[in-house]
Amino acid sequence: MRILLVEDDALLADGLARSLRQSGYLVEVASDGPTADRWLQDGEFDLTLLDLGLPGLDGSEVLQRLRQRKQRTPVLVLSARQGLDERVRLLDLGADDYMVKPVALAELEARARALIRRGQGGAEPVIGFGRLQLDTVGRRAWLEGNALELAAREWAALEFLVQRVNRIVSKEQISQALYGWDEDITPNAVEKSISRLRSKLEPAGITIRTVRGLGYYLEKPDDAAG
Ligand code: CA
Repeated sequence: MRILLVEDDALLADGLARSLRQSGYLVEVASDGPTADRWLQDGEFDLTLLDLGLPGLDGSEVLQRLRQRKQRTPVLVLSARQGLDERVRLLDLGADDYMVKPVALAELEARARALIRRGQGGAEPVIGFGRLQLDTVGRRAWLEGNALELAAREWAALEFLVQRVNRIVSKEQISQALYGWDEDITPNAVEKSISRLRSKLEPAGITIRTVRGLGYYLEKPDDAAG
């Protein structure tokens, strides 16, 4: 699940992004209005967390443009602005939910899960992948019906690879997806996550290949069987 976090307070953005990533979400952070507007035009996000007071372009303007383009990405507004009028105005503009800062992380994550689930049509979006099944909203995995224990980072790496089956992804791409741009992560940390993931998936015939000097790819299970 890919989340766009739009927040110009670097400290807050960093804290939120970190804890969402620890929960296994892929998080991208935009720190001003025009950047958020551009990324929303270019990319697919399963959820947008949107601050209102932003440099360049107000959050409510970003929201208005998003809905004018008929994009359905769920939007959860995070605002310091209190008051019923403000809340009603934002919901009328197309926000799906509204939280007043400071937000409690557990509540933010619960609301995020609810919005992502609703955004997927309310159904459990379970992806079948050979003998592996992935519930991308609940972030659970099963191997032949048995629950598979995955650490948050293993989960995020697996989701990232499953979305790019048979395509080579570099260590840098995985590192950015798991940790963000600004964290100092050794290539070793990525290797460790991949290696743990591998040992859990290989008994089920699911293979993560290493391409020397380039990165990894997840082999489509049908190809592996043949
Ligand atoms: Ca702000």
